[in-house]
This record gives sequence, structure tokens and C-alpha cells, in this order.
Amino acid sequence: MSRTRQQNVTAAQWAVNGGALGAPDLTDHGIAFGSNVFGLDEQRRRLPKHVFKALTGALAAGTPLDASTADMVAQAMKEWAMEKGATHYTHWFQPLTNLTAEKHDSFFNPTGDGNAIAEFSGKELIQGEPDASSFPTGGIRATFEARGYTAWDPTSPAFVLENPNGAFLCIPTAFVSWTGEALDHKIPLLRSMDALSTSALRALKLFGDTEASRIFTTVGPEQEYFLIDEQYYFERPDLYTTGRTLFGAKPPKGHELDEHYFGSIPERVLAFMLESENELRKLGVPVKTRHNEVAPAQYELAPIFENSNVGSDHQQLTMQVLQNVARRYGLVCLLHEKPFAGVNGSGKHNNWSMGTDTGHNLLEPGDTPGENMQFLFFCAAVIRAVNKHQALLRASVANVGQDHRLGANEAPPAIISIFLGDELENAFKKIATGRGRKTKKGLLGLGTTMLPQLPLHGGDRNRTSPFAFTGNKFEFRALGSSMSLGFVNTVLNTIAAEAIDELSDQLEKALKTSKGDLDEAVASVVKGVWEANSQVVFNGDGYSQEWHDEAEKRGLMNLRTTPDALPWFVKAQTVKTFDKYNVLSERELEARYEVAVEQYATKLNIEAEVAASIARTMILPAALRQAELLDEAEGVAGVDRLKEELSSVTGELVDGIFTLEGANLEENQPEDPLKLAQYMRDKVIPAMDATRSAADRLEKIVADDLWPLPKYQEMLFIK
Ligand code: ADP
Ligand code: MG
Repeated sequence: MSRTRQQNVTAAQWAVNGGALGAPDLTDHGIAFGSNVFGLDEQRRRLPKHVFKALTGALAAGTPLDASTADMVAQAMKEWAMEKGATHYTHWFQPLTNLTAEKHDSFFNPTGDGNAIAEFSGKELIQGEPDASSFPTGGIRATFEARGYTAWDPTSPAFVLENPNGAFLCIPTAFVSWTGEALDHKIPLLRSMDALSTSALRALKLFGDTEASRIFTTVGPEQEYFLIDEQYYFERPDLYTTGRTLFGAKPPKGHELDEHYFGSIPERVLAFMLESENELRKLGVPVKTRHNEVAPAQYELAPIFENSNVGSDHQQLTMQVLQNVARRYGLVCLLHEKPFAGVNGSGKHNNWSMGTDTGHNLLEPGDTPGENMQFLFFCAAVIRAVNKHQALLRASVANVGQDHRLGANEAPPAIISIFLGDELENAFKKIATGRGRKTKKGLLGLGTTMLPQLPLHGGDRNRTSPFAFTGNKFEFRALGSSMSLGFVNTVLNTIAAEAIDELSDQLEKALKTSKGDLDEAVASVVKGVWEANSQVVFNGDGYSQEWHDEAEKRGLMNLRTTPDALPWFVKAQTVKTFDKYNVLSERELEARYEVAVEQYATKLNIEAEVAASIARTMILPAALRQAELLDEAEGVAGVDRLKEELSSVTGELVDGIFTLEGANLEENQPEDPLKLAQYMRDKVIPAMDATRSAADRLEKIVADDLWPLPKYQEMLFIK
């Protein structure tokens, strides 16, 4: 490594191995859950009774706050935050980058006599105006009309984020253009939750439920990530610029030995996990599960589910906290979908369900799902929604990192199908054929009386299905590890709302024919839905070639790459559904489409540039030094053969570099955004692959001390 870079690396390690916020006491359970959140308890404690009532009342009814209530809330929030050490506040929002954005403002205002007083008004709480016109807007906001507003979302509690040198108050907000269009992931998500609530309440009334007054969609995300030592990270320009390694030969050992999944967690990693979880608990994120994942150096974390809005804010916080805390342990947390070629990538499982404000999960099958007509109705609606909008669901999880996973023979496939499990599938089949509705659960004997008999689940697990029914929720498994939950859940909620309405229409009609017999009417609706949509149900191995063939016969979509999938954002059927439920207008959908297409091309353009530069300025020189080494060994037996080998691979590398640099030149690229995305996929990726292939072979023949990059072996196995 060059000296400058060596110095940079050292400089970056200002707090290796632990606790920039003071060495954490890992046995300290004293951190109160939600202690850095301005939640309900804190609001009750600090607000005058009438203000607290006005606030909770407005929240329940979904009505805006009046100015004086807002002022009182702001005042209490400020005092609370300042007691926690906050000096600044920020409107915390989620632009279309999949990241969060923040601009800090001090609570302090000058008084004119050289002093300053702390001020924070209701107006400042409710509305902000980031002047930044540089967020992606997909053309919605031209720079000459650059105003954007952030608007307080009182349904997601404000929180304080800490730093070794201070703290600041974060107010979750929506981000909207001057013309009223959504520029973020929160607004459509909230709109879609409203839409689903309305549809599901209507359906529940048909089932005689008059108690529920609001339906919430819920989300519990399982987050996968890699941890590597930061020393390696900073020695890899590809990792710190693009999030993934653009070079690196396959290590002699991967996860073939199956020793990593659920393996015992290395001490440094566990220390990191414990501190991250403490931080998350302070922020009110209900973290629950942690374990080693399949790939070496890969881990997973999952919280207890929450309503989709809060859950998705918490997911953004989780990604941020993981990345921050890792640095305190001399580690870097990688959230890229595919940081290491040839090694399992990282995804996110989006567990999704619908629940009433009276506490019922609408996807809870009970002991006899075949007889639970209300459950079958909602489940059938989901099947209908997923089948109709399979391509949009695929598009909702498309990004450049995902193209290394979906459709590339890795978990899960790009074909969207649903796994129901045997018991549930049989229940639907029985209804469709009119063969009664009883299904039976078994017991699993373990062959010894010493161990308890375990109740058998209604279906085995299936890890290869992108959309699986898992007990009392659907698990959409095709999300990428870096993704925001916002858009995916917006899509799920909206298409489910539509399908529930469609089935309710049918049920209302069927009830007339069945003269009010609810069971009979639901059975006939479910039968119809099953017959028209069961093509999307598949219980087998989603990775197999047979399934790909079978899926094609069934007419399911197989959109392998991001440019194939993204146009579904703006297909007529999508526009119609999103417009009907007022979730996103055509213009808002188009904006999202444009942003996604542009990000795909831009990210590839950056990858290509970094790849060409590493190949030319780091790898090629190493190959040339190796050539000198061989020249010095002139006359030693076998050297000619080595020279020939080296020279041929080096030649390939040079060809690769020139092709790559040419392909990545702007003048060679089409202007139309979708054509450009396709061009990047068809021309630039293959050129990067060819360069990489030569470089990775060089890694195996160039002297180890000449090789300029940390190797997979080191990054993945030194913990
Ligand atoms: P597994 O790895 O077996 O899929 P995990 O325990 O890792 O299970 O994660 C399951 C996730 O599903 C958790 O985040 C959990 O809170 C969530 N979940 C459970 N019930 C619901 C529900 N009704 N709605 C949404 N998510 C749920
Ligand atoms: Mg899991």
C-alpha cells in the first residue's frame, strides 16, 4: 500500500476497538427502552392535560394540530431534548435516495445584546423548508422552483441521537414539493396505510366486525449485513466508494462447511451487537433476534414488528446505528446487496401483515385455517394482489445491487411466486373443488419419550420462495439489504387494498345469491380467486431450473434485471391502482421511475470508473512488477512458462481496461435514461466482468507482497 494511503488509513482509526461514547459496560442492562424517544409516556408527563388530550385526539382522528397545541408540544419537546444534551434539532426525512436526510438547526437564537436564548416554536416543529434542490425528484422539482417542505409526522415519535460531543433532536418528517407532490418514502406509505385501512374495514363489516375502527399494516424486517475489519475496508477504494468489492478471487474456503450459519458469535462481533442493540433500545427500536448468517462475516438482526410507518423509520435508524457502532469496534458494517462476488449476498425480509386496532391479526389462521373464512378471504386477497402485481413487486425491490442476487441463481429468484405450505394450499384446493374444509395438524414424535412431542406447523419452511406465508404473516424476502422499507410496503398495502375491495365487491354480490349465508358466499369468492390466481402459488424449490421452466409455462414474469423491472412503476395497471387509492399520482410514479433508472445508470458509471482506475493504477502495476520478478529469475527452470502465463493474463487485463474505459465514455452512451440503463447493463457490466476475470486470475499468480488489495480470505475470515 502506498505511504499516503497507509497514513490515511491510520488517520481514520481514531477510535478503534471500542466505545467512542465511553467503554460500554456490556453487562449493564440499565438502559431504559425508549429513553431517547419523546414517546407517549414522556408526552403525558410533560404536557398539560388538555394539550396532551388535544395531541392524542388529533392523532387518533388523523386531523391537524392547532397552532397553540403545536407550540406547547414544541416547547415540551425542546425542554426534554435539551435535558438529554441536545443543542440542535433537525427535520429527519427520507428522500428517494433510500437514505435519510438531516439539516441541523440550533435551538439558540441571538437576542441582540450578545446573548442567545433557546427557542423552538410550533411552527418550527411542524414545518421546515430545506433549500436543497439537490435531492432526487425525477423532474418534479426544477431548480427554479426549488422549494420543498418537510412536515412533522406526529405518528412517529421524535428522538435524540447522541454523538461523543453532543446530541440533537430528530423530528420524523415527510418531504413534499412546493406543488404538493411527495418527494419521499413516508408520504406514500402513510397514504397506502390509509387506503388499506379503509378497504379492510369495509371487508370486516361484511364479516360482522363492527368494533374495529382502524387497520394497521405491520412490518418486521430481518436485516442481513456483513462486518469486516475497517483496516481492510480503507485499503479498498472499491469498497469505500461503491460499497462492494469490484475485484477479488474466490477464497479457498467459503461457506461450504456450513459452519457459519447460527454459529457461535465471535466476541468482538457480539460486543458490537450488544452495543448496537443498546443504542437501538434507547431509540425505542424493539430489537429481538441476532445470529450469524450463512456467509462468513455475515450476520442478521431482527426487531419485533411495528406498524409500517414506525417500523420503517426504525429500520432506517437501525441501518444507521449498525454503521456507526461498527466503527467504535474497528469494524465496518456493509449493507450492500453483494459486497463479495461468489459469496452469499445480503437481503432483507419484510414480514408483513394487517391488524385491527382491537388487536386482531387478519392473517392469523387459527387452529383450523380451512374453516376460518375470514382468514381465507384476506389471504385470498393477498394471493390475488401478488399475482396481479407480480411485476410491480419485482420492480419495487430492483436496484443495481439486487441484480447480483435476484435472477442470478441466488436467493430469491426474480420470479415472484407465493409459498403457502401444504396445509393452507390444501385448504384452498378443497374449497376450490368443494371437498369440505377440514384440515388437520400433526404432532412430531422425536422417537424418545424423554423429549416432548412438538406440534407440527401447517407447512414446512421454504427458504427459496420470494413471498412466503409464515404462520400469521407474509414474508416478502426479495428486498435488498440496503433498501428502505418505504416503497415496498407502499406497494404491498396499495395492491392489497385494491384486492380486498375487489373481493368485497364479489362478496357483496355472493351474499345476495347465498341469501346471507356468509360461509357459502366467502367460499364461492375464494374459489373464484383461487382458480384465477393459483398460478402464482408454488411450494417447491424456487432456485431450480425446473421452476424457471414451469413458471414460464404458467405465464409468470421473470424480470431478471433492474432495467427490465423498473418500467412497471409506470405501466397503465400500476398507474390506475395507485391513482384509485390516491397513493401516488402518475406524475409521482413517473418521478420515482426516473429516479430509480437514473440511480441504476449512475451507480454503474461510478463502479466502472472505480474498476478501471483500480485495474490501471493498482493491479496492472502489480502485474508489471511480477514481470520484473520473472525477468530477474531468467534461466530458472519453468520461468518461461510462468512468463507466458503472466503475459497472456496481463494482456487480457489491458484489453479489459481499454474496453471498459471506452464503454464508460459519455460520448459512447445513449441519452435516453432507460436506454442508458440498458446500455450500462449490456455493455459496461460485461466489460467490468472481463477486466475482473483477468485481475482475479492475476491475484492468484502475482507475488503476495506485490498484491495491492486485501484478499477475500483476509476480509471474510479475520474477525
Ligand atoms: P425467521 O428467521 O424465522 O423468519 P425471525 O424471528 O428472524 O424469523 O423474524 C420474524 C420477523 O417477523 C420478526 O421481525 C417478527 O417481529 C415479524 N413478525 C411476526 N409477526 C408479524 C406480523 N403480524 N406482522 C409483521 N411482522 C411480523
Ligand atoms: Mg430470520
